[in-house]
Amino acid sequence: MTDVTDPLARFRAAAAVRAEAGLRRALAPRTADHDGLIDLASNDYLGLNGDPRLAAGAVAAVREWGTGSTGSRLVTGTTALHAELDRRLAALTGCAAGLVFSSGFLANLGAVAGLGGPGVLVVSDQVNHASIVDACRLSRSRVVVTPHRDAAAVAEVLAAREEEHALVVTDAVFSVDGDLAPLADLHRAARANGALLVVDEAHALGVVGPGGRGAAHAAGIAGEPDVVLTLTLSKSLAAQGGAVLGAPEVIEHLVDTGRAFIFDTGLNPAAAGAALAALDVLAAEPDLPGRARANARRVRDLARAAGLATADPAAAVVPVFLGEPHAALDAQRICRDHGARVGCFRPPSVPKGRACLRVTARATLGEADFTTLADALRAVARSTGRSLHT
Ligand code: PMP
Repeated sequence: MTDVTDPLARFRAAAAVRAEAGLRRALAPRTADHDGLIDLASNDYLGLNGDPRLAAGAVAAVREWGTGSTGSRLVTGTTALHAELDRRLAALTGCAAGLVFSSGFLANLGAVAGLGGPGVLVVSDQVNHASIVDACRLSRSRVVVTPHRDAAAVAEVLAAREEEHALVVTDAVFSVDGDLAPLADLHRAARANGALLVVDEAHALGVVGPGGRGAAHAAGIAGEPDVVLTLTLSKSLAAQGGAVLGAPEVIEHLVDTGRAFIFDTGLNPAAAGAALAALDVLAAEPDLPGRARANARRVRDLARAAGLATADPAAAVVPVFLGEPHAALDAQRICRDHGARVGCFRPPSVPKGRACLRVTARATLGEADFTTLADALRAVARSTGRSLHT
């Protein structure tokens, strides 16, 4: 029986259950220098966070436009920076038009809820990011979740539908396992069945393909009228914000009807200025994406050499599979003790039995960083008894 005099009792009880299962989460305050640890946990894939060129872009934006964007993009929140960012993100990814949102999460809500709706089927990969999952729910569409990276299953669901319209939605690079969606096959399935394909480039932008133009561009489907991209400015571009890219009709539809766009304050000018500067850096240093990818393969090789289960990275994200939450937490602590900060993912962020370390490579990692990581991963392997050498 619930104690009506103690409205917080149920939260304490639920927290105790999560603690027992090793599933409590904690904020992780850090210093500017990552507490002296090597950063192998952030999404700063190109190592641009703290780059003076981006800082200068942000500062110049604040000096000219102020510390806030002052209103929604339909009222006072579209500065010249926003308009330029709309254009340049579209040009980079190979799309006809672009629309900057104040986060990647909101870009997904805007795209999927705005393009979906009652009478539109949404087909979603089972490993899609939480923002896509929530966007599906918010769309009030019928949603069918398909097995991971299964374009044949998507085609089947699309062909069997009763709805006139459909969206297929997928991460380009999956955020924890770091694998790549079969974009060309998904596009074929979508096109054959009159559906739109929505691709979240969050972990691919700046890393995948020549010039970091993203996975859809690399797959040759960017700019197709039935392809819509979403992205975040908060990872490779070391800023904050998001965007939807696609055909002008799609962008105009979101401007008119996308609630996550219309009713949200425009992106902060500092973030827009930093993102524009990051695009300049990406253009000036075209080898950065390849360096991030090569470093990710190096991280994978070190995990393998230590005898740990890992996977081939499509971009900069490398998983190290540990199985149970407690094992992943122990491994994260061991890495920290050895000087490396890595991510730790447990259910419900990943499926049960798939708790893992999430190790992210940066374009700017050096030899000493790899030596530290190799030591840390060997220590993890020793502690889990998984090492091939013991
Ligand atoms: N999509 C994916 C695949 C992500 O991993 C994230 C962020 N973790 C987002 C969208 C949300 O982007 P943002 O952080 O800019 O809200």
